[in-house]
Amino acid sequence: MPITFISSPKCLLHDMDPEHPEQPARLHSINDQIISSGVEFAIDFADTPPVQLAQLYRAHDNQFVDKIIKEAPTEGHKWLDDDTLMMPQSLDAAMHAAGAGVHGVDLIMSGDTNKAFCAVRPPGHHAEYAKSGGFCIFNNIAVAALHALDHYGMKKVAIIDFDVHHGNGTEDIFKDDPRVLFCSSFQHPFYPFSGDKPTNEHILNIPIPAGTKGDEYRQMVMPWFDKLNDFLPEMIFVSAGFDGHAEDALAHLRLVEADYEWVTLQIKNIADKHCGGKIVSMLEGGYALSALSRSVVSHIKALMN
Ligand SMILES: [Zn+2]
Repeated sequence: MPITFISSPKCLLHDMDPEHPEQPARLHSINDQIISSGVEFAIDFADTPPVQLAQLYRAHDNQFVDKIIKEAPTEGHKWLDDDTLMMPQSLDAAMHAAGAGVHGVDLIMSGDTNKAFCAVRPPGHHAEYAKSGGFCIFNNIAVAALHALDHYGMKKVAIIDFDVHHGNGTEDIFKDDPRVLFCSSFQHPFYPFSGDKPTNEHILNIPIPAGTKGDEYRQMVMPWFDKLNDFLPEMIFVSAGFDGHAEDALAHLRLVEADYEWVTLQIKNIADKHCGGKIVSMLEGGYALSALSRSVVSHIKALMN
């Protein structure tokens, strides 16, 4: 069964500043590498519709969502927080980024595919229940996971977040929802300076010291896989951030493509064993363009393995 690569041209139009690391060139670079690696012939491509309001309301405070939509700029810029900027095309990009994971769940549940990778931006995992943050407007992965739970009646899903930053937004949304096993590895201490203290039994956070290399990282995240095997998720979601790559200047881990391939394979093997291989993976961070796009291709190849 081929993997489905979900994106939208709308996600290219959100452009905070030419100097901002979360820039449209990230998606261009991924698209170029998909073509030059030859992997494009093995994957299906799909355009995503925008998210529906009711789907956003499952993950976020209604007033927060309404305020973002009402106050989205029609000209100029609007800062949502210290890191996150909206310009006139940003709302449309955010609606399509959040829609992509929902679309991935729908495609998988229709039986067309069992895996989806969503190449979208803005990213989502720092967006909390009622707060944007860290380049994120809506929490794309949370919206997707809640679609699987609330629309399709799944009892249990897992979210694995291997972005170099703690998925504080995702933890905030699911901290009291034991239907979701949330596993996050992140450089610590580091932005957003959270996640080191356990908040609940279904949250498995693994703080990683700066300078950690791939072989040490692999040992440190092993507890995830025992927990996943016990939890028996019906679908697995991945917050796929590649800013832990050694070439990425925004953080200080020393991972390489082979490490992303390894962690993806562990997740895929568990999905094959327990949930018919069903995985929705969504792009989060990754700012060194070449390392990002090479890592995404390694991730996609491992998902197809
Ligand atoms: Zn990150």
